[in-house]
Amino acid sequence: MPLVTTTEMFKKAYEGGYAVGAFNVNNMEIVQGITEACQEQKAPVVLQVSKGARAYANHTYLVKMVEAAVKECPDIPIALHLDHGPDFETCKSCIDGGFTSVMIDCSSKPFDENVEITKKVVEYAHAHGVVVEAELGTLAGVEDDVQVSAEDSSYTHPEEVEEFVTRTGCDSLAIAIGTSHGAYKFTPEQCTRNEQGILVPPPLRFDVLEEVSKRLPGFPIVLHGSSSVPQNFVDIINAHGGKMPDAIGIPEEELRKAASMSVCKINIDSDIRLAITATIREYFDEHPDHFDPRQYLKPARQAVKDMVTHKLVHVLGCNGKA
Ligand SMILES: [Zn+2]
Repeated sequence: MPLVTTTEMFKKAYEGGYAVGAFNVNNMEIVQGITEACQEQKAPVVLQVSKGARAYANHTYLVKMVEAAVKECPDIPIALHLDHGPDFETCKSCIDGGFTSVMIDCSSKPFDENVEITKKVVEYAHAHGVVVEAELGTLAGVEDDVQVSAEDSSYTHPEEVEEFVTRTGCDSLAIAIGTSHGAYKFTPEQCTRNEQGILVPPPLRFDVLEEVSKRLPGFPIVLHGSSSVPQNFVDIINAHGGKMPDAIGIPEEELRKAASMSVCKINIDSDIRLAITATIREYFDEHPDHFDPRQYLKPARQAVKDMVTHKLVHVLGCNGKA
């Protein structure tokens, strides 16, 4: 099937009590690792491209790689989405350039300005058969060009969501309930430690999510910054010359719970980066004489596939839903 929008996949996800994975793509191995896992698991998927990915890999290369994945994975719906579109022009360029979904992120701007720009993107997108994700509330953390300190982050105010969705006409809404971008989602001071001395992050604000869902029945909610930063990857990285002390993510059981509620799209990026880096660091340590990139990119691609398979089956619950 050709590239699809997220409309149908979110509707099914909402009704079915699961979430679709939205994975960031930057190169061929990442596209292949993700889509091979989704094809095998018969899972719908959102492949998303950030402004940084377009700067790194070039818009045309990314679109063509995703088109190749669509051809190689004929059994699953795939949407191509712009992650964190900063302005109308970037969104327009992706809408004109083959994307089926865009995010306009004006969450750092005042409410009325966020409404105004989002509405403009929605009008252009809908006229071209493309759907729009918007954001209310501000996540902490670092993601490509988006950088927000913990002090400047704020939870979504549920009392604003109806007005925002009505005025903008957006198709899905990213909210801030305590997730965070990057591999260092929380400082040790924000966390507690369990008996093993492992950091436990503060729980997500499910009360905010519930209040938002109550006000927007049937409306798909999106969670950004939802990598779980698997400690086995962090341990492998640290054991092979890396230095990532206190890297920490969102516990998978919390994401599973969100997926069973109104959350229809869960964004995962850092876990892909960690899977690749852990695999390559270990490979270099064990094979200091190897120099063919295929030798270490092949297991790295496999690590992405294994990690994504785990998410589809054990966190998102979208396996078998294509
Ligand atoms: Zn994000």
